[in-house]
Amino acid sequence: MNAPQSRVGVLGGTFDPIHHGHLAAASEVCAELRLDQVLLVPANGQPFKQGFDSAPAEDRLEMCRLAVQGDERFAVSPVDIERGGITYTVDTLTDLRAQLPEASLYFITGADALARFDEWRDAERLSDLAQFVGVTRAGHSFPESDAAHAWVEVPELAVSSTDIRRRVRAGAPIRYLVPRAVADYIAHHDLYAGGIDD
Ligand code: ATP
Ligand code: MG
Repeated sequence: MNAPQSRVGVLGGTFDPIHHGHLAAASEVCAELRLDQVLLVPANGQPFKQGFDSAPAEDRLEMCRLAVQGDERFAVSPVDIERGGITYTVDTLTDLRAQLPEASLYFITGADALARFDEWRDAERLSDLAQFVGVTRAGHSFPESDAAHAWVEVPELAVSSTDIRRRVRAGAPIRYLVPRAVADYIAHHDLYAGGIDD
């Protein structure tokens, strides 16, 4: 992966849990921008989700690892979880730049998240660290925001982690919304059933 001049996508998120909306978006950007690899980077703590009790970082990381198995384009980076504390994209990108000094980084963000870009820490510095790529998201309008260098229209999968958590609590099916190994992991570790608040 660390080949000179490689083009590396970075998809950050809470991934609580990872679902097919994340994977379809990463896959589409990978093809559209001819990326060599997409790194999924689970956040440790999310600045916009304080007070929200997410599943443990190790579980979210492991579900990401299970989800990318068998797809060589994808890998998972524990950089944010290893740093700990609240995850800010500026730190994610600074650390990844140090690990991959020759790579061009493309930070992938859904329309919902990019709409709040101005509130991100050190927003003005971020475009020096990576190219920002917006992806369309079902239920969110195509933003006028100029925070993204490029927009990629991805197949609309109206799935969210919030919806997956609700479904688990309600005993509704999540198969086909998340990779099978992720559904099995959730069942075996009894995640989300115990009333994690949204
Ligand atoms: P939650 O409901 O807990 O916020 P989520 O489904 O939004 O979960 P996140 O981990 O918050 O998942 O999202 C990580 C990134 O993936 C964000 O940039 C988000 O916009 C993007 N994303 C998530 N789901 C989709 C989807 N279905 N289509 C396109 N982008 C998505
Ligand atoms: Mg979200």
